[in-house]
Amino acid sequence: MSTPKLTIDLKKIEHNTKTIFQLCKESSIALAGVTKGTLGMPEVANAMIRGGVTWLAESRLDNIKRLKDSGIKVPVILIRSPHLSEIDRVVDLADISFNTEYKIIKALSEASIAKNKVHNIVIMIDLGDLREGIWPDELRDIIHKALTLKGVKIVGLGTNLTDLNGVIPTTENNQKLVDLASEMEKEFGIEFEILTAANSSSIKLLELNGIPKRINHFRIGEAILLGRETIAREVIDNTYQDAFVLTAEIIEKKLKPSVPIGDIGQDAFGNTPKIEDKGDMVRCILNIGRQDTNIGGLIPRNKNIEIVGASSDHLVIDITKAGDLDIGDMVSFNLEYSAFLGAMTSPFVAKVIGLTDKL
Ligand SMILES: *Cc1c(COP(=O)(O)O)cnc(C)c1O
Repeated sequence: MSTPKLTIDLKKIEHNTKTIFQLCKESSIALAGVTKGTLGMPEVANAMIRGGVTWLAESRLDNIKRLKDSGIKVPVILIRSPHLSEIDRVVDLADISFNTEYKIIKALSEASIAKNKVHNIVIMIDLGDLREGIWPDELRDIIHKALTLKGVKIVGLGTNLTDLNGVIPTTENNQKLVDLASEMEKEFGIEFEILTAANSSSIKLLELNGIPKRINHFRIGEAILLGRETIAREVIDNTYQDAFVLTAEIIEKKLKPSVPIGDIGQDAFGNTPKIEDKGDMVRCILNIGRQDTNIGGLIPRNKNIEIVGASSDHLVIDITKAGDLDIGDMVSFNLEYSAFLGAMTSPFVAKVIGLTDKL
């Protein structure tokens, strides 16, 4: 088996999904499993489906294509705004798309009409995180115009918090979405099927029963994949944090000093290292580096191993307190989201379905 490798435990993903699904169900919220972090990996999507999700959500069309080509039948939402340059593919591949620009909605409508289709859209509202979303006082105008388009149907409203600026979901900002929905429904005589409010940063509020009644749809990635909510990265009860484990191989082991010898300039990435003198240490090099993952998001599974540093292809660890490890031995890491995403997207990291207990 080639290394480095990322072991993906589908049983743990299914279990985590069941936990989140149950939480959502208690508040009558439908759950979309967000697969973007896995590049739309069908095995992961199917584990989520076994765990209860009735929707999938993806940021990229290529990933949606991968899901659909594998035979997955549950509806897939495109959660990043469609690109004008690939409108046709959006209509072909996405069952719903999230939208914030009239120009794009109009293009979606034209493309749908040409294909004898109606494309479902959710309009995203910015409630303060300042990433995607139209400003609340522009909602009336965009709905008014979109309702005249024959090729699109507005199936709901949504919002996304926390991802860019860390804005914390509250009952109040969620209620704002509900109020806007009621206002628009009254004004235009329409009814929204979906009010989609949340990503993994809303799990805490959900546990506290703080989600307003009418919110009926969540889109959850990290909490399912890594078992943490995303405001303080706290562990969610009854979930695993090691459904994904990264393993690399020891390619050098030497007793060396902890402090470099010579004058210190910049390292390979333009930083000037400040190094504490811990005396001599047993240092190992692993065959993994910044081309493969985000080093800051690696958590050694062996608590006695310490990460010293990394360049593009080399990760140096201190195994002084870790006992007997040798050339060719494997070292494994649990992953924070940044390291998970890096490993998942690196072509150099083999992806292997397996059990992460038996590493
Ligand atoms: C990524 C994303 C999600 C899922 O976020 P997690 O924190 O992984 O749960 C939900 N909605 C939108 C719009 C996203 O971009």
